[in-house]
Amino acid sequence: MGIQNEQLKEAADMILQAKHLVALTGAGISAESGIPTFRGGSGLWELYDPEEVASMSGFRRNPEAFWEFAQDLLLLEEASPNPGHEALAWLESAGYLNTIITQNIDFLHQKAGSKSVLELHGSLQEAKCLDCGREYKWSELTPIVKEEKIPICDKCESKRIKPDIVFFGEQLPQKTVDKAWKEVNKCDLMLVIGTSLIVYPAASLPSLAKERGADLIYNNKGSGEQDEIFDLVLTGPAARVLPRLIKLIKQV
Ligand code: NAD
Ligand code: ZN
Repeated sequence: MGIQNEQLKEAADMILQAKHLVALTGAGISAESGIPTFRGGSGLWELYDPEEVASMSGFRRNPEAFWEFAQDLLLLEEASPNPGHEALAWLESAGYLNTIITQNIDFLHQKAGSKSVLELHGSLQEAKCLDCGREYKWSELTPIVKEEKIPICDKCESKRIKPDIVFFGEQLPQKTVDKAWKEVNKCDLMLVIGTSLIVYPAASLPSLAKERGADLIYNNKGSGEQDEIFDLVLTGPAARVLPRLIKLIKQV
């Protein structure tokens, strides 16, 4: 307890002194909102084969498999932000945090009030027919998915309506990537939260920031892949650690 308090104090000081703070978030920050992470324990990839359900070639071949998997994505629409998301939204509104770069597709940062959010893997807000280009809101499709049916394009009758999330084997959205890399080049402190740092290129961002001279803070529930590159590690659930951290900042 004592040590963690000291580390939190050190993190608060680093944030107070930072000129350009960027947060990089992953599935772990949304765990307390009831969204399972993909890896480990009850991770979704234990249940599904990502190459089959969430790759471009799999989707073109067999969109049904994606829509079956999409049953598990329905809970993203209903999820609410937790105190971890709220802490980051507060940090931005108070002028301490410049941007969040997220790998999440759940829109929870925006629901919590964060304004500057770069979604590296897209978001489950829109969808588009791969055959005719007609655009859909995800919320138009979910009632169909809830009935365990497959959405069919009302313009061209294709079954290949693809949500605006980045599938395996697909390029990341270029404009977002450009903005994210600019932020990484500018930042002097990066707060890395709830990501296993396995999925590239997002996983390369902390070491890139480090090369540019930034300090790195890591918050994860357990120990992670690249622990040794971090200047400070805060172990514990994001929904508990981040509110304690901003409490210290508010006291200044
Ligand atoms: P990941 O599943 O690979 O890793 C999650 C990490 O979070 C792990 O290191 C785990 O130890 C940690 N963690 C778990 N619970 C935590 C908590 N309460 N507080 C802090 N840390 C916690 O996730 P990733 O690194 O984001 O990569 C997975 C990919 O899957 C991403 O590309 C992302 O797009 C996608 N994904 C998104 C969501 C979402 O939108 N919420 C959920 C699952 C996966
Ligand atoms: Zn169509």
